Amino acid sequence: MLNIVITGAPGSGKGTQSDLIVKNYGLHHISTGDMLRAEIKAGSEIGQLAEHIIADGKLVPDNVMIEMLHKQILEHKDAKGFIFDGFPRTVAQADALDKMLISMGEKIDILLVMNVKHETLVERLILRGQTSGRSDDNKETIEKRLAVYTENTLPVIEFYRQSNRLTEADNNTTVEDCFAQIKKIIDAHQ
Ligand code: ATP
Ligand code: MG
Repeated sequence: MLNIVITGAPGSGKGTQSDLIVKNYGLHHISTGDMLRAEIKAGSEIGQLAEHIIADGKLVPDNVMIEMLHKQILEHKDAKGFIFDGFPRTVAQADALDKMLISMGEKIDILLVMNVKHETLVERLILRGQTSGRSDDNKETIEKRLAVYTENTLPVIEFYRQSNRLTEADNNTTVEDCFAQIKKIIDAHQ
């Protein structure tokens, strides 16, 4: 398996680059944000819980997310590998992911962080909000999401950085240029 975690601030282009990685490397895409939005649309129990949390820019509780992710992994055990997009967002989630993969005899092969300047993130998310219809793509919630990212997810990145497992892509650029950087990282790994 080839397992990639793609991480970075809200609006850093994780979803866009994940789609390109899927197209080029045939991995199974697990986007926890997309999964939660599907639950909201379906009106499920998880959806009802997540709706307000997401609109408020906060994080859905770890236990809910970990269970959701575990289910997905088990359902797609036969995949060539996974691209995890939007997970882990907390240190507890990172621990849980490591354990799940270890129990399958697998590991995270590549940890990819997308770097984008704060003001560019805000600009891109506000622009996306004009068409995305997402409850969280508005100025107030965007700033909240960025603060939640700094508080909860940066420590995860620092943890991976200290164990020398981190690779970085600069996405203050075009989609194509960023993907060229990512392709180099993946091809160097294989
Ligand atoms: P983008 O997709 O543009 O990079 P983003 O990372 O903020 O932006 P999503 O990953 O789609 O967007 O997540 C949207 C919201 O869903 C988050 O703000 C959070 O409330 C919830 N969410 C998604 N993944 C998780 C997770 N692993 N743990 C807790 N909450 C999550
Ligand atoms: Mg996304």
